[in-house]
Amino acid sequence: MKGGDRHQTMVAHVLESMNEVITNNYDVNHKAIDIIPSDRSETNIIALENGTVTTAVKNIKKTNHNSKGLDTYGNYVKVKQDNGKTALYAHMKYGSVRVNKGDYIEKGTVIGTIGETGNAYGKHLHLEIQNENNIKENPNISLNTHTHSSKKNINENTEQKKSVKNNTTSQNSTQNINHTNPTTTNNQSINKTNNKAEFLSAKEYHHGSIVDALKSINIDSSYNYRKKLAKANNIQNYHGSYSQNLKMLNLLKQGNLKKA
Ligand SMILES: [Zn+2]
Repeated sequence: MKGGDRHQTMVAHVLESMNEVITNNYDVNHKAIDIIPSDRSETNIIALENGTVTTAVKNIKKTNHNSKGLDTYGNYVKVKQDNGKTALYAHMKYGSVRVNKGDYIEKGTVIGTIGETGNAYGKHLHLEIQNENNIKENPNISLNTHTHSSKKNINENTEQKKSVKNNTTSQNSTQNINHTNPTTTNNQSINKTNNKAEFLSAKEYHHGSIVDALKSINIDSSYNYRKKLAKANNIQNYHGSYSQNLKMLNLLKQGNLKKA
């Protein structure tokens, strides 16, 4: 389903590698989506729609977590699309931005390369879509997220659009599994503390790194401790893979990561 309730056709891809994974969804605190390629390659960002480049910032050399305002976007490009909406592509790699203010670009045109300039944690594309009234709407792009989501989750995600939660498509399933199958995880904490399980929460964290998210709440982010966390949260055979870290991060963002 490609944003079927919208009057306009949504595109399938915004990365040249066509393996988009949403790591941070649209919500009230983050009116954008964050996207990485599933293989974490340094791929190019391609234009979602035809339009005119209205801003092309190219001079940001590095990551700066203290940046403010527009500087948080790092190198970014804004395109006023022919459909009336405006797309903003942020955090691009220094030296990679290929378009200039005033250029008319077609859908699929390479804009630049995925990076982490500005206030970014890890290389990703931060994508914002503003509608005709300059309201930042859910980009709600139909992405080829075969690695981390199923059709069912994409549909759930679409249905949730009006009460958007801080979810990625994949964490819906994680959450459901944990909520409908609590027996396995409960035993451990009962054995340990004989108390209610304690949960870690990093709801204020809006980026894509489990290590940074744990640090942001002053919790041990070492591999060994993450391994314990994984075990306590039913993430099997933890070896620090992308999908395991993503699961853990999503639980943490929801306040559902069981303490180890
Ligand atoms: Zn973002």
